[in-house]
Amino acid sequence: MGGLLADASKRLEQALKYVEISEDASERLKYPKTSLSVSIPVRMDDGSLRIFQGYRVRYDDTRGPGKGGVRYHPNVTMDEVQSLAFWMTFKCALLNLPFGGAKGGITINPKELSKQELERLSRGYIEGIADFIGPDMDILAPDVYTNEMIMGWMMDQYSIIQRKISPGVVTGKPQTMGGSQGRDQATGTGAFYVIQAMLAKFNKVPQETTIAVQGFGNAGSVVAQLLYKAGYKVVAVSDSHGGIYAPQGLDIPSIIAYKKEHRGIKAIYCEDTVCDIAEHKTLTNEELLALDVDVLIPAALENQITEKNAHEIQAKYIFEVANGPINSAADAILDPKGIHVFPDILVNAGGVTVSYFEWVQNRSGLYWTLTEVNERMKQKMVVEAEKVWLICQQKGVSMRTAAYIHALNRLGEALDAKGTRD
Ligand code: GLU
Repeated sequence: MGGLLADASKRLEQALKYVEISEDASERLKYPKTSLSVSIPVRMDDGSLRIFQGYRVRYDDTRGPGKGGVRYHPNVTMDEVQSLAFWMTFKCALLNLPFGGAKGGITINPKELSKQELERLSRGYIEGIADFIGPDMDILAPDVYTNEMIMGWMMDQYSIIQRKISPGVVTGKPQTMGGSQGRDQATGTGAFYVIQAMLAKFNKVPQETTIAVQGFGNAGSVVAQLLYKAGYKVVAVSDSHGGIYAPQGLDIPSIIAYKKEHRGIKAIYCEDTVCDIAEHKTLTNEELLALDVDVLIPAALENQITEKNAHEIQAKYIFEVANGPINSAADAILDPKGIHVFPDILVNAGGVTVSYFEWVQNRSGLYWTLTEVNERMKQKMVVEAEKVWLICQQKGVSMRTAAYIHALNRLGEALDAKGTRD
């Protein structure tokens, strides 16, 4: 077992101490059910042929078809995809969605490809995994560096192969192809609902609560914007190049507008007259994580807070909007310091929850309004967050362990109900 999945499994072991599920069930949850690796040939614009590595892992499908995004990133490995599929399994169970967990990825820096090359790569990936996916088998979605345009190509390619329109095989599609209202903002919006509900337990007043957000992509920028609008003091944001910090609070809407125009917030570091972003300092991602703020929101990639920098963390509350931003060794340092960590499988579950709504809408043919989508999502997120909070209080465990306990109870029940064939 590789590094990342081995580390992810430690959370499972931790939670297994508190649940009464059969040994058969706990044993099965330690291993990914099926892992597929494909070589994808792509004709490049210059006429040459390049082969890219792609993966799709179905970790568990006891509670329903596999569900999870596809990541395009230069660091994608089978170990990473297996870990991400593991987290999806627990995330879907935690939210009580009728899905198992899956994930996909391609080892590529998509910024190096032209739009045509990206389309050929995405269609080639579907060719490679077509027998392994489907609306009742395994359903794809966006993740890091993939978007609705790519989901549209994937759905189209799958429909071509099947010789029938199959919108339910992919979620996060363009709305003209059956995508749901609110899916693009869902991860950040869901995180906002959980943050609000949980900070209320500690009587935090928005105007007096300082927040730093690492990562300004699809999830980070949306959560920063919603927190800003609700009156919280978002004092620092960053992207992969670094960040900006203003103790009096940043003007998030103008940073978002600036980013749209300049394709990144990096240029802000060099220009001090832009937008309304008065009086700010620049800082590295490491410095942002160590800021003396009330709330820290890692919304980028995994392994950002490890045993190397966990001692430096000053925030009192951490909400994991990214998948796996804190490793298990860091948990062991943050917990005794009394830092409340709200885990990824709860905080960022708004994305897959609206993916579920998209799949339901595709199957029924009846489409919901944005208000309906957001109300149903909020309801689900807050109800499950409250259940996790209760387990945390009753058993005296961390929110992470409580989240795993909650998911494990559902998974254990399903695995035992299904039984084994041997
Ligand atoms: N990639 C997102 C996640 O990690 C969404 C997955 C989905 O919608 O299936 O939760």
